[in-house]
Amino acid sequence: MSKIGHPPPTPTPVRVKDVVFGGGHPVIIAGPCSVESEEQLMTAAEACVENGVRVLRGGAFKPRSSPHSFQGLGVEGLEIMQRVARRTGLVTVTEAMSIEQIALVAEHADIIQIGTRNMFNFALLKELAKLKTPVLLKRGFMATIEEFLLAVEYLTVGGNTDVILCERGIRTFETITRNTLDLAGVAVLKRMCPLPVIVDPSHGTGRSDIIHAMSLAAIAGGADGIMVEVHPNPAKALCDGLQSLDLPGLRALAREVGALAAFLASRPSLDARAAPDASGGEGDGSVP
Ligand code: PEP
Ligand code: MN
Repeated sequence: MSKIGHPPPTPTPVRVKDVVFGGGHPVIIAGPCSVESEEQLMTAAEACVENGVRVLRGGAFKPRSSPHSFQGLGVEGLEIMQRVARRTGLVTVTEAMSIEQIALVAEHADIIQIGTRNMFNFALLKELAKLKTPVLLKRGFMATIEEFLLAVEYLTVGGNTDVILCERGIRTFETITRNTLDLAGVAVLKRMCPLPVIVDPSHGTGRSDIIHAMSLAAIAGGADGIMVEVHPNPAKALCDGLQSLDLPGLRALAREVGALAAFLASRPSLDARAAPDASGGEGDGSVP
């Protein structure tokens, strides 16, 4: 474990085409939970472009808790995503759930997402380690920070160092939110790991009414970006409508994140403000 008072590691940004994660400017990833149709994804993508959002998300292979729920469009969803990316120039991220899906996803998208249910799938992580494609690794909903970092190491030690970490909430006794978004965990990750860390307040809360608050809190607390679910008509979404922003919601979020980023850029970094005194003492972690 990292000791309280130790300086954080020098960041190692991850570049995907013209987008830099961990480069000092927060990255927004937005898009629907699932790719439902070309029109739906294109509408969300156009809203991204209009609001300066550079990365589009959307699941083609969906890890649904119930086998009776919509499972995603599969290969057709990947093809839609690729066409939309070609037309808009957006960088894309979508999930692979199994070793067999890795090559297919890597062919159609820029970043491979590994979901919360697969963070502990070490066979899958070992295969991803052999690729050059960047990986967005979500924290297991029952994983400690240490277990999360060990899962990251399956990728980096295996040879793929383009890894973006994503806090997406953990399961606790609380039920008013879908998960408990661990923003303290994000701050700790930033002190323990040089790789970029982003936050998914959609799955982290399950509630569209607090996405803005948690997004701003995440970025103010040092996250390198956010991933939010956005749907042209959340009430009609085939998946996760309750936690999806509508298009005006995305516009407002992008504006607020931009304003917060400008404010943060005008201030000394969190680490400079929180640094222990020059004597280098580790302190005992107590609050004076
Ligand atoms: C997702 O982002 O589409 C998703 C399924 O998230 P998670 O794996 O965090 O549940
Ligand atoms: Mn979802």
